[in-house]
Amino acid sequence: MTFARRMSRVTVSPTLKVSAEADRLRRQGVDVVDLGAGEPDFGTPQHVKDAGHAALNANFTKYTPSAGVLEFREAVAHDYSSRYGVTIKPDDVIISAGAKQALYNAAMVLFDPGDEVISHSPFWPTIADQIKLADATPVMVQTHREDGFAIKAAAIIAAITPKTKAIIINSPCNPTGALISETELVAIADAAAARGIWVIADITYEHLIYDPVPHNLVRILFDRMPDRTVICSSASKSYAMTGWRCGWAIGPKAMIAQCNVIQGHATSNINSITQKAGIAALTGPQDGLTMMLDEYRKRRDAVHGWLTADPRFVCVKPSGAFYLFPYVADLLSPGGIKTTGELAEALLKDVSVAVTPGEGFDAPGFFRLSYATSIDRLREGVNRMFAFVAAMEKSGKIPAGSHE
Ligand code: PMP
Repeated sequence: MTFARRMSRVTVSPTLKVSAEADRLRRQGVDVVDLGAGEPDFGTPQHVKDAGHAALNANFTKYTPSAGVLEFREAVAHDYSSRYGVTIKPDDVIISAGAKQALYNAAMVLFDPGDEVISHSPFWPTIADQIKLADATPVMVQTHREDGFAIKAAAIIAAITPKTKAIIINSPCNPTGALISETELVAIADAAAARGIWVIADITYEHLIYDPVPHNLVRILFDRMPDRTVICSSASKSYAMTGWRCGWAIGPKAMIAQCNVIQGHATSNINSITQKAGIAALTGPQDGLTMMLDEYRKRRDAVHGWLTADPRFVCVKPSGAFYLFPYVADLLSPGGIKTTGELAEALLKDVSVAVTPGEGFDAPGFFRLSYATSIDRLREGVNRMFAFVAAMEKSGKIPAGSHE
């Protein structure tokens, strides 16, 4: 079968691939510790579910305007205006099926063949693949574990060429958990504004920041470049609503109208029931956010402590999101397990632990572990990984290490 040429430029999302394999094993009755999934283990807050039920019972089940009902766009505009100290109007907002569709619309609206789009590596694979689906070229600027995967303005600016159309910043970052500092973003925004380059900020994990560090990306961008800023986010991670498919893009009205043209032809409005639930999430009680953040922090500290007790798991303590991203080159060797892809396969096969290999994030030697699962399962997962490493030592695949 032949398919359109664009299909040869993209691959199946590696994170979805791991979940699918873990799911297959689970259905066969295997007790899988799934540390691969990029989604909260918490239930959606009760008042949000109630709003969904009420929408269904009221037969709020018809088409809505493609960009989302006005009440939801107002709720997003109000939420961002008040939290970030900016002025966003409902016409600056489109409701999409997760931040993923919001980003996809932006790619389709802004990128042409031959354009270059800068982002930072390690990256969430969809960022690069969406750029390629829009026939543009991703230009990935490396960040490094040695300095906590900090995004450096100088490196981003050095990658700008006359072909640069946009810069995509993901903060908190999946998979590294790193936050961009406000100072670096200011420098990037000033450079971009001076050259007419768009800045797209993917702040899907905006509510999952562990320390009170300044992170007002929205205000920095809208203050400096209101005509060339796009903010993409969603209710998925913040409100434990991944399956509802509830996200949004915020940007200049004319650009958002173009996103609505794409969305109008692709999918139209997101699920009507989800929209009512999304309104409840943004306008209802917010205490669930703090509860979840406190719990994630506990898990982060615990798993980070357990894992790094073995120095072969070299791991930055992340500032945001809910992933650890250990560097495990000491477990790899030409004669044994060669890549983290092979390591992830072996972990799943031998000890039924699902993690996501670093190759998919452009980060060979690393793997991603999600701590959005219960502390007991996390402990069990780490125990099994250590048992796996001990077995590798025993069979001579790696030298005996200092497993404290
Ligand atoms: N951005 C990043 C960095 C993500 O990790 C994800 C989900 N894994 C998304 C966007 C999209 O999430 P959703 O479409 O559920 O909002």
